[in-house]
Amino acid sequence: MDTVFIYFAATAIFVFGTIIGSFLNVVVARYQSGLTMGGRSKCFVCGKTLGWRELFPIVSFLLQKGRCKTCKSAISWQYPVIELLTGLVFLALFAKFFFYGSNVGLYENVVLLLYTLFIASLLIVIAGYDFKHSVIPDGFVYAFDLAAFGSLFAGGVFNAQAGIAGGVFFLFFGALWLFSRGRAMGFGDAKLALGLGWLLGFAQGIAALLVAFWSGTIIGLLLIGISKIRTLSLPGKYFTLKSEIPFGPFLVFGALISFLFRLDVSMLVPLFSFYV
Ligand SMILES: [Zn+2]
Repeated sequence: MDTVFIYFAATAIFVFGTIIGSFLNVVVARYQSGLTMGGRSKCFVCGKTLGWRELFPIVSFLLQKGRCKTCKSAISWQYPVIELLTGLVFLALFAKFFFYGSNVGLYENVVLLLYTLFIASLLIVIAGYDFKHSVIPDGFVYAFDLAAFGSLFAGGVFNAQAGIAGGVFFLFFGALWLFSRGRAMGFGDAKLALGLGWLLGFAQGIAALLVAFWSGTIIGLLLIGISKIRTLSLPGKYFTLKSEIPFGPFLVFGALISFLFRLDVSMLVPLFSFYV
């Protein structure tokens, strides 16, 4: 493929990602909120139906300086952040398939890419919803598990190793949920880990879990630090290790990183030699 075509395709897939991201925002905002998925987008404050110029992903938010055009109330950062992240994730997945992809034919790569973009969209909704509401939405995590289950049969051979990985991850997170009585993990995290195991198998899956735990710990400690500095005058009012920071976004982050960079748990083992 020539360079101009690749740049064109990369730009198109990024823009496509931001448009899908804009749709995922609607799903995150409306799912199980009593609002229907259909119907035009409105301002949550003044109720004005948004015009086409207010619906461009990222661009509209920047042009309107993050405010509603009609009533000037602030629009949540969730909107441009999810649009941008979805665009970047789509671009990264495209790059993975077309630059470092498997040497199967173009047709197979396009099908694999579409399947992966679909899975990534489900994971972005799960992460966004969990971040916002501290709940992993059942409908989406079941859809994700089903799609991941399908990947066990890719190539016409049952991938028993990945099948077992899903079960083991599910039991591990289920045990964390049970023994912490839901404080360390929600049961939704176990449902999510099930699909991650089926999708990634043991080597990449454990790497994904390690990235999730490490990034979760770093962000958790940062939050505790920030809140300690911010609330020095209000003793007792800060994040502690018991604070509920939703873990779903970290699981999704770990899975994406592991998948994109083909992390293998054996690549991460040298990092443990510090402790030995
Ligand atoms: Zn408004």
